[in-house]
Amino acid sequence: MTFLMTAEDFRDRWQELRDQIVSAGGSLDRVRVVAVTKTFPTEAALLALGVGLLDLGENYGQELESKAPRVAALLAEGEPSPRWHFIGGLQRNKVKRIASLVALWQTVDRVEVAGEIASRAPGAAVLIQVNTTDEQQKSGCQPKAVAGLVDAARTLGLDVRGLMTIGPTDGLDPRPAFAALRALADRHGLVECSMGMSSDIAAAVAEGSTMVRVGTHRERSAHDDARA
Ligand SMILES: *Cc1c(COP(=O)(O)O)cnc(C)c1O
Repeated sequence: MTFLMTAEDFRDRWQELRDQIVSAGGSLDRVRVVAVTKTFPTEAALLALGVGLLDLGENYGQELESKAPRVAALLAEGEPSPRWHFIGGLQRNKVKRIASLVALWQTVDRVEVAGEIASRAPGAAVLIQVNTTDEQQKSGCQPKAVAGLVDAARTLGLDVRGLMTIGPTDGLDPRPAFAALRALADRHGLVECSMGMSSDIAAAVAEGSTMVRVGTHRERSAHDDARA
């Protein structure tokens, strides 16, 4: 796949995103933007780093394994390194290979995965992924399992920073799911709530997101086609 976004497009998209966060009542001090670079080449990561977005998200172990060293090799001396967030489904056997690369594991949803992370990356920072929409095919633990998983992860020595969820994929109003995640995090004294993607950022920020995960590309809209 070719990567067609120019640095100027990227800066426009970044400005648009910041406007969206602020109009939803957020601020860039409180809402961290994770630039999701999955399926994009290293150029996308460099564009993000170029505007100061140091938090980069990847979904696939192999892609992270090959991309992280290539990005590191392209950084100029003294340039800050990215913090890689793992946001894809986790299997035990994947953890070992990427353990040294990941700054925040966002998708811990089972004790076995927490255990594997704890043994490969002792003390690592994690989020517990919660299925807040009760969709069968989705990963994430059930809301009622959060307390047990937070305790188990802490007992394993992991640094549990907060919770993560994916909004409804069926086009329903995402706000109840996001409000539920925020309430769960507050109940457990957890600060971070990673929620909100391109399609539902405003709702997530309005409900107290501290971290949005946004793909580096934007769907072409009718508006763009009219301008083209
Ligand atoms: C791909 C992905 C994103 C980014 O989605 P966009 O719609 O491109 O903003 C966010 N979170 C997760 C878990 C993803 O897999």
